[in-house]
Parts: sequence; structure tokens; C-alpha cells
Amino acid sequence: MPEKCGKWPGVVAIVGDADMYCVPCAKRLYGDGPLQAVIEGVPDYERYTDHGGNPLTPVLSGSEDLHGQHCGGECLARVMRGELTEVETRLCDEDCSCYGVDGDVGDDDSDWEYEADDESYGTAKWT
Ligand SMILES: [Zn+2]
Ligand SMILES: [Zn+2]
Repeated sequence: MPEKCGKWPGVVAIVGDADMYCVPCAKRLYGDGPLQAVIEGVPDYERYTDHGGNPLTPVLSGSEDLHGQHCGGECLARVMRGELTEVETRLCDEDCSCYGVDGDVGDDDSDWEYEADDESYGTAKWT
């Protein structure tokens, strides 16, 4: 689960360098101080920028921008090394359906198809 930080409804991710990162990864990339300022929404937080010079953008819990997103930072690297599962790098709410499209959901449906196959197997015994 993403860590929620800050006094806003909960900053769960940071957009920087055209990618989205969980808060711990963003801190590692851009520094504790700048991230804390962005998360807390201090008046001039826009002056903290990513490596491309664009303002770091906090993404709040429940934001539509989070749908289907995974942390693109150290978490991604850890998935590559097999230390984390992809599920653990999800930035959107775990109750949200946005990750379901890729097909982890629906195992029950395939079980039903197997039962249909059993029926044809049964008729095969007639011959
Ligand atoms: Zn979602
Ligand atoms: Zn991360």
C-alpha cells in the first residue's frame, strides 16, 4: 500500500520527470526537504523541481491520475529484482478496480469454462 503523507487528504504519489513515484521513492530521488515542502504544500513549493526543471506535482489519494499507476522509482527496480510484486507498487487504492483490466480478476470465470468442457467429455464416452 502506498504511504500517505502530508496534511492534505493524503499525498500518495509525486509526479516528476514524466513518471509517477511513491513518496519514499520520490524522497530518494529529489531529497527529503523538497519533498516535505511539496507534500505539505508550502506556498512556494513550485520552486522545487524535478531533474528536468518542472515543478514536482503531488498526487492526492483518490485522484483519477492514480488509476492503473505503479511507482516508477526504486519500487520498479525492486520488482525487476524480484523483491517486490507488482501489486505492492500500486499507487491507486487497493479497492479500486482500475488494475483489474489486465486479467488477474476473472479466474472464477475460467473455472466455469472448464465445467462446460466436462460436459462434452461426458458425451464423448457415448461413442
Ligand atoms: Zn484506480
Ligand atoms: Zn516507490
